[in-house]
Amino acid sequence: MAGLTFIDYLNSVEKTKKKDIRALTKDQLRDFFVTQGDKAFRGNQVYEWLWHKGAHSFEAMTNVSMETRQLLDAHFVINHIKVDQMQRSSDGTIKNAVQLYDGLIVESVLIPTKTRTTACVSSQVGCSLDCRFCATSRLKRMRNLNPDEIYDQVVAIDNESRLYFDRKLSNIVFMGMGEPLMNYNNVLKAIEMITSEEGLGMSPKRIIVSTSGVPKLIKKMADDAVKFKLAVSLHSAIDEIRTSIMPFNATFPLKDLREALQYWYAKTKSRITYEYVVWEGINDTQNDANALVDFCKFAPSKVNLIEYNPIDDGEFQQASNAAIEMYVKTLERNGITVTVRRSRGKDIDAACGQLANKS
Ligand code: SAH
Repeated sequence: MAGLTFIDYLNSVEKTKKKDIRALTKDQLRDFFVTQGDKAFRGNQVYEWLWHKGAHSFEAMTNVSMETRQLLDAHFVINHIKVDQMQRSSDGTIKNAVQLYDGLIVESVLIPTKTRTTACVSSQVGCSLDCRFCATSRLKRMRNLNPDEIYDQVVAIDNESRLYFDRKLSNIVFMGMGEPLMNYNNVLKAIEMITSEEGLGMSPKRIIVSTSGVPKLIKKMADDAVKFKLAVSLHSAIDEIRTSIMPFNATFPLKDLREALQYWYAKTKSRITYEYVVWEGINDTQNDANALVDFCKFAPSKVNLIEYNPIDDGEFQQASNAAIEMYVKTLERNGITVTVRRSRGKDIDAACGQLANKS
């Protein structure tokens, strides 16, 4: 309680008793008004303010009566995120440090290109996985983000895109902090609002969920008939090597991942993207590239070779250009689409795997 007055303390206790209003579905909000002796329709009006119009407070709901706003205030809070700090890279990339209602921080990134603005959003505070090359894995997983906290990151980046680049957000990648599939329900709810006309109305085809590969949940996504795209952080198609850099591969080996991806493709007919970093002395041989080719044959897929973004301790080194060239040639010879991705926002630690709240 250091630094807090007793009144602050009482207020915070009071606040925690109130429910996050955006945890309610539209029907639940309509029911709330009916139980309060009001019309169900009031629920629709408030719902629109909360999502489509992005109100940060009940006072902002100008066409709602004072009485109703007071009623809402007595029962609920709006746990809106706060962009605590914004950093701009020399290449135009923007990184937001986002403060959550309980004081925890996550990061999200705006990546501009000539024709697009992509939002890279976080799904968890910290991460429970242990990929040895990723800065986020060094933070303990504190909690899952709520759907509204994911949604707000997207809205914040859309606003920045309009302000700084004079265009709206075009794409979203779940490649920030956390493992999206370990927060399955909330990530899907957030995407539902992002794609709904009652939210941001974005096309699911412009959303990519990236996972380290949790086979059961990849199958569940296929069963749930999701419409967004899937990316898998593969980094090696040889179990022994993959387990050495992504230890959870011991629990979810490549055989299970492969089977889940075949299931995914059979159900969704949506091509899979494999993210892959080539490291010196780890996965830079012809044998590694051949194993990747074999893995790619199980389901229609393409490969993104991504640049390694050093995370300080020098244990991992980006492979030589010759090794990357060898991968590209091997994949192309086998008819597999491959792109080589340059990193963005490296100077502000905003690139893949660098998000770790250094600020
Ligand atoms: N947990 C999800 C979402 C994170 S996405 C996943 O693993 O897919 C972040 C992407 O950046 C993943 O492909 C991850 O493997 C990759 N990555 C992590 N650390 C990196 C680093 N230091 N340099 C380059 N890419 C990295």
